[in-house]
Amino acid sequence: HAKNEGRGRVSFFAKSMQDKVQFRVALKPALQKAITEDELFLLYQPKVERSADGRFRAVGYEALVRWNNPETGMVSPGEFIPAAEDSGQIVEVDRWVMKAAVAQLAQWLKEPQTQVLPVAINVSAALFSRSEFVDDLRAIVESSGVPSSLIELEITEHAAIVDMENTLKTLRELRAMGFRLAIDDFGTGYSSLAYLREFPIDHLKIDLSFVRDVHIDPQKQGLVKAIIAMAHSLGLKTIAEGVEGREELELLLTNDCDAFQGYYFSKPIPASECGRIKLPSVTA
Ligand code: C2E
Ligand code: MG
Ligand code: MG
Ligand code: MG
Repeated sequence: HAKNEGRGRVSFFAKSMQDKVQFRVALKPALQKAITEDELFLLYQPKVERSADGRFRAVGYEALVRWNNPETGMVSPGEFIPAAEDSGQIVEVDRWVMKAAVAQLAQWLKEPQTQVLPVAINVSAALFSRSEFVDDLRAIVESSGVPSSLIELEITEHAAIVDMENTLKTLRELRAMGFRLAIDDFGTGYSSLAYLREFPIDHLKIDLSFVRDVHIDPQKQGLVKAIIAMAHSLGLKTIAEGVEGREELELLLTNDCDAFQGYYFSKPIPASECGRIKLPSVTA
């Protein structure tokens, strides 16, 4: 029942099967098996900054979960993350990811020749709102010996605004424990400026919908400019997601965006390749 879609991607079910409910019902036990039998794995996408000499360098990575289903092939996160959010299994997926990312950091720290950079982990709304989340994370990190300063937590703007008071409380706890914090997909939700000002965060990640074709869309340019200016006046750094083209990058650089992520620099890659990515050296 798997079907090829374009570049060798295999869908869990043929797209002709319209019944979303049935799809999700079948996916649930399959995902359960994936979590317990290690069909999940992580890829890492570099976050890049430009130094004073004009060179780009990786300053961290975002861990992105992948599912290799032995029966159907790769299942895209765009497919199984929303399903896992609906079924509640996202909490288990995220715990798997937290453990795997922390274990990878611990491994890198053991290798004397590896320069260890911070790793960002996506935290779903369901996990973030659970009272056990902070203690679970603390237990995982403490038993690993990895410094919390090497871990960044990405919370989507949508998740952050579900319950602003609780978000503020949880972010403060995480900050006190030394984690770095980012608001993901910024611009797609409706954050209140009053709260944003109080959130103890480090980064705003500008959603890729604003980045795409920003160099040819004057309205997006205005929005991106405003987001960056607002972030800077709040003392936050901005990261642009989904930078694919050189013109997009140049427009973002002109507007003082601090960091970049996207296929222009690198797709998400296996941990084994993280030390040796080649970044474009200088922009004109
Ligand atoms: P996100 O956190 O906003 O992650 C960025 C997504 O953009 C990733 O998709 C990444 O592969 C993709 N991307 C990066 N550069 C480019 C680019 O230049 N062009 C385009 N078109 N896309 C780019 P991915 O890996 O498919 O993940 C999709 C979403 O699924 C993520 O969005 C995140 O919300 C969620 N996700 C992924 N891993 C996890 C996880 O471990 N836990 C949770 N809760 N969510 C996850
Ligand atoms: Mg993210
Ligand atoms: Mg994002
Ligand atoms: Mg996004």
